[in-house]
Amino acid sequence: ITPAEVAELRAAFPYFADLPESGGRPVAYLDSAATSQRPLSVLDAERSFLVSANAAVHRGTSQAVGAATGLFEGARAAVADFVGAGMPEQIIWAENATDALNTVALGIGEANAGLGVDGSERFALGSGDEILVTEAEHHANLVPWQRLAAKTGARLRWIPACEDGTWTLDDAREALTARTRLFAFSHVSNTTGYLAPVADLVELARSVGAITVLDACQSVPHIPVDFAELGVDFAAFSGHKMLGPNGIGVLYGRPEMLAALPPARTGGSMITRVTMESAEFMPPPLRFEAGTQPVSQVVGLGAAVEFSRAIGMDRAAAREHELVERLVDGIAANPGLRLIGPADTSRRVALAAVEVAGLHAHDVGQFLDEQGVLVRVGHHCAQPLHRALGVTSTTRASVHVTTTEEEIDRFLDAIRGAQRYFGLEGSA
Ligand code: PMP
Repeated sequence: ITPAEVAELRAAFPYFADLPESGGRPVAYLDSAATSQRPLSVLDAERSFLVSANAAVHRGTSQAVGAATGLFEGARAAVADFVGAGMPEQIIWAENATDALNTVALGIGEANAGLGVDGSERFALGSGDEILVTEAEHHANLVPWQRLAAKTGARLRWIPACEDGTWTLDDAREALTARTRLFAFSHVSNTTGYLAPVADLVELARSVGAITVLDACQSVPHIPVDFAELGVDFAAFSGHKMLGPNGIGVLYGRPEMLAALPPARTGGSMITRVTMESAEFMPPPLRFEAGTQPVSQVVGLGAAVEFSRAIGMDRAAAREHELVERLVDGIAANPGLRLIGPADTSRRVALAAVEVAGLHAHDVGQFLDEQGVLVRVGHHCAQPLHRALGVTSTTRASVHVTTTEEEIDRFLDAIRGAQRYFGLEGSA
């Protein structure tokens, strides 16, 4: 992707075409890992749906409902195709990745509370069984498993993070046991940027009979992802990090897994037959979509997927890799910085977090904000990882395909400015 193409891409985003200011300067937006900006095509898709096509999807027989349902299901097919799901029915709409992960954890909880459906035995969990996660997980892929362990009596175990916050296939091999029933991990960490070797991990998990749950929040927006090829049983991601609307996320599942998972939420539009005593559920995906759905957000997500597809995820990944190399090289050149995550950029996707020696990340964040550099400071919803790293918070810059070299340089310069401002030695 050439600089001219980047400029053209940025022009497709109202945000970048008319940047807000911070500290009297146009913002250098380096916080896409928290939430990405949306192209006009996404905003337009939502708006035009609401202006002229809004109707109660999957309810009633009118032509308007048929047309709206077609757009809703068309977006499902587009998302399925984008992430390598063989069938649209493998895509379940959720509020966000957090909600999608909870759908799995709560569903398994129901299966173990005697509220299973045909095939739910595969989710049996009890004392002596183990749920495995890593110490590097976002809270969204940790707390639901803590709750499930507490409910079922299973033991929650984790792969410890090493000094740079990463972990390896060998660490996973050591931690998986014959009692591991479920292994949940991130494709790309939102703190270290570490790209996990998913296919090998899935093979390992399968060899002990464990179900795999992938947090794909930070991978789907940045690299080509094919869940069928990776072999994961479940995966979750959010629309708002992949140029799409917020209020919409996705749960992907292998068909036999979704068929056996009980719904965590029940109510209208997910049943086939209801009596005063009981109910029978629809097959996936509708079984998991109780109540009125966020239809305009679904349509917007479909447009976001089309936008990304038009760029090409291979090309976007290659462009973002160049940006990450510039970021990591610049960090390495500053002796006052500790890089969190792998120094080897071939295993790093779309972001870099640092600890600035002698400075609290919130001071760094405030200084950067005054320079118009918008980053994320804090524990990034990964407190256990930060504890393992021996820090309370870090400063994270994250890129998207619209990021420019100039924005990366402004970040690196502003960090040096903060070091000078606070009178620190060792700044380059
Ligand atoms: N997992 C990872 C790795 C994330 O980066 C995030 C968002 N910070 C989430 C899960 C949760 O996403 P959401 O808040 O959209 O549910």
